[in-house]
Amino acid sequence: MKLIDCHAHLDEFEDVEGVLCRAAASGVTGILAVGINTATSRRILEIAGNCSAPEIIPAIGLYPDEVTEEEIESILALIDEEYAGLRGVGEIGLDYWVRPLRKKQPGREEVKALQQKAFRLQLRKARRYSLIPIIHSRGAWADSFRLAEEEGITRAIFHWYTGPLDVLEKILAAGYHISATPAAAYSPQLREVLLAAPLEKIVLETDCPVPRREGEDRIGTEPADVIYSLRALAELKGIPEEEVARVTTETACDLFG
Ligand SMILES: [Zn+2]
Repeated sequence: MKLIDCHAHLDEFEDVEGVLCRAAASGVTGILAVGINTATSRRILEIAGNCSAPEIIPAIGLYPDEVTEEEIESILALIDEEYAGLRGVGEIGLDYWVRPLRKKQPGREEVKALQQKAFRLQLRKARRYSLIPIIHSRGAWADSFRLAEEEGITRAIFHWYTGPLDVLEKILAAGYHISATPAAAYSPQLREVLLAAPLEKIVLETDCPVPRREGEDRIGTEPADVIYSLRALAELKGIPEEEVARVTTETACDLFG
């Protein structure tokens, strides 16, 4: 079985070599590695340059909670410099559940506006260089979709999408994809979304090192754990694991070449 982890924060691991060895031993042939700011994006490029198996598919970008005017400028410059070696722009998007937006504090609209500016400008780079946006949309589902559509994006992954089903419908109709994480085993919101989407619209990922739950325990993940996303999705859909692996890997290959 060949698997592709379509969302990994590889920069967060100390022993990257060990992580990649275990991934390869578990049948992971590709890892889409994402950055969240200029420094982590540079680290992702470094890791991708030093590794042959599994194949590292690099994406770089500025995460909504990392947005500053300075960071926007530097990530856009980095995308301009590195686009030829990239396959995606990520992790980018909007997050209306971040701390400054949770309470009705003054300055909320400025925070939102800055997130939207960063997202739009990165979507434009993605479009210009034919890169796939990897979109984080927590609590900002409708706006994230609207901006992607307004910027003329035709292919994107709405990573770990757990928003309303009416927005999901628009996401799928626009030709975008969503993803299954290990939380597909226990998150009611994610399970509802995954059940509503056709298998051909779903890719597998871990969002490692974000922990997965097992009973009362929270266990840190790495790309080898994409097997848990596979198992949960196969169980949820009532489709054999081999078939889910084949279809999701084909979709990922289609997206990332
Ligand atoms: Zn992530």
